[in-house]
Amino acid sequence: MRAIVAGGTGFIGRALIDELRDNEWEIVVLSRTPGKVAEVFGAGVIGMRWDNRDWPDILDKDTVIVNLAGESIAGGRWTEARKKRILESRVHAGQRIVEAVRLADSLPGALIQASAVGYYGIRESSTVDERNGPGEGFLAEVARQWEQSTAVLEEMGVRRAVIRTGVVLGDGGALKQMLPAFKLFMGGPPGSGLQGVSWIHMADEVGAIRFLMENGETSGIFNLTAPNPVQFRKFARLLGETLGRPYSLNAPAFALRFLFGEMADEVLLSGQLALPSRLQEAGYAFRFPELEAALADLLV
Ligand code: NDP
Repeated sequence: MRAIVAGGTGFIGRALIDELRDNEWEIVVLSRTPGKVAEVFGAGVIGMRWDNRDWPDILDKDTVIVNLAGESIAGGRWTEARKKRILESRVHAGQRIVEAVRLADSLPGALIQASAVGYYGIRESSTVDERNGPGEGFLAEVARQWEQSTAVLEEMGVRRAVIRTGVVLGDGGALKQMLPAFKLFMGGPPGSGLQGVSWIHMADEVGAIRFLMENGETSGIFNLTAPNPVQFRKFARLLGETLGRPYSLNAPAFALRFLFGEMADEVLLSGQLALPSRLQEAGYAFRFPELEAALADLLV
């Protein structure tokens, strides 16, 4: 089997490619800078530019496309230019995949399309699953258009699984950004701490993606989140305990708004409690369903 991983040089892509290589998948990475692919993965992983005219030729029923590409959402204050890049990088990646499939002689076996639990918008206390509709806000709109960018492939007969991912806990990403403050006894939940954190251990993120790639019966929307999401204050307490550095202070909302603007409201001060109902119904067994064990595995 062959995987074409768009955006495969990123945080999730690297871990996914390690998992797939261990399981005999042949890997092609679509990247803006294919030179980086050789640097990151060494020999054995092929890097291709998005505009390489040859890549539609390698599509066939034994090929699964995984689309992870997109400008980082938490990489800094959301200027108008940055918001445009966040949205357009995702929609354009989806459109280019659709164009390639149209040009190809054979259809791919499946597309795994990235999205995020931000789709559900700001939901304070009640849980959500795949049956819930879209919420409001910039991230919800990005997720809606991002998912929509490849929806036509379903009409063309391609199996498509959309992965609405939560906060991925691994060697990088959000956890890496939080650790320095906690290690200095200065970590704490942003704002009230009542907002939901729909987290997932990287082992389950890539385990679930591989499950969806290999399980030809699966299609539609899947929340990639652990079955036990928590409020941020519990997340901060468990993180502090795991590190042996109890937290004491909440980071005040006004200061976060001052530093990060709109991004603070949508990414730090609000969240969702998303449940992976469809993934569990499909038979995926989580390696890390509980946050304590996930943090201990990553940090101790
Ligand atoms: P990264 O930011 O680590 O990597 C994304 C990849 O996308 C990069 O390696 C890059 O590949 C490509 N990329 C970056 N900017 C652009 C751009 N402007 N135009 C086109 N391509 C670009 O993301 P993650 O691996 O953390 O996440 C993968 C996807 O999953 C992302 O879309 C993210 O939004 C989503 N997600 C991630 C979560 C997380 O906790 N990490 C949570 C929820 C969703 P290259 O430079 O090789 O072209």
